[in-house]
Amino acid sequence: MCRRRRLRIVAVSRATMALCSTRQVCAVTDVPGASHSTAGTLYVVATPIGNLDDMSARALKVLSDVALIAAEDTRHSIRLLQHFGINTPLAACHEHNEREEGSRFLTRLLAGDNVALISDAGTPLISDPGYHLVRQARAAGVAVVPVPGACALIAALSAAGLPSDRFIFEGFLPAKAVGRRARLGQVKEEPRTLIFYEAPHRILECLQDMEEVFGAERPALLARELTKTFETLKGLPLGELRAFVEADSNQQRGECVVLVAGWTAPEDEQAVSAEVMRVLDLLLAEMPLKRAAALAAEITGVRKNVLYQLALEKQKDK
Ligand code: SAM
Repeated sequence: MCRRRRLRIVAVSRATMALCSTRQVCAVTDVPGASHSTAGTLYVVATPIGNLDDMSARALKVLSDVALIAAEDTRHSIRLLQHFGINTPLAACHEHNEREEGSRFLTRLLAGDNVALISDAGTPLISDPGYHLVRQARAAGVAVVPVPGACALIAALSAAGLPSDRFIFEGFLPAKAVGRRARLGQVKEEPRTLIFYEAPHRILECLQDMEEVFGAERPALLARELTKTFETLKGLPLGELRAFVEADSNQQRGECVVLVAGWTAPEDEQAVSAEVMRVLDLLLAEMPLKRAAALAAEITGVRKNVLYQLALEKQKDK
């Protein structure tokens, strides 16, 4: 490519970048009555979960340009901002005062100031404060713009090698064993990949309960200290993963995400189609279990003992 043409391309892309970075993003609000042409924008900004190199150029630009940063913990965030040489004023917006403080941020937004929302690490609102402020802002017709970046659950899922086309995020499990087991019981037969956040001092009990409820063979993965020096991703069946963590106290330290493969029906059950189950159900309603299984086997061609077992399971569940 000739030098003049190359210089022209560079000049054009610099001009485009300058345009994008001044306007940030052309936000379109979808809230009824949202015609606050003078209102500011609320930027929901993700920050790193360990490695500061994960801070995006756009996040830095937004945090430098806004009038105010609403932070989960100002003492924590000041260090992050100092690291990047950002002097924007900070104000606390945490779980306890978010509802009341929200209106303070809202006043600033409605007065035309741009405000950024950050949490201690990762994406705000994901097991972190911010929900009430975002809701209030949207209800008031203020444009809310995401500035995406690190999120522990997505980082873990992206490297876990477990099905990622469909998954559910369960956040933190209840701290007490009874509540935790009950919650795990509710998702025992969930076919999508399950993702949990857990505190390090509870990781062992959590894995013990998972092994008990989901079974020792269920594939799982522990993602610990993601993006940090001692990052560990250990994928094993639950029984072995529990033993691995039990045997090494280092694995019971640091921040962690637990992923568990979704439920798959036992092979025999999988082989039985919905239509076969319908026949079995109809017969079970009319005759004794053994006779129903035998007749269903004759009608459908599925083995008698498979249907007999299924019928027994059904009776147990009643
Ligand atoms: N908003 C954050 C996000 O986007 O992931 C999550 C905040 S939540 C209060 C903190 C929990 O996230 C931790 O207890 C842990 O389960 C998970 N987490 C955060 N950083 C992590 C990291 N570097 N490695 C593994 N898990 C992490």
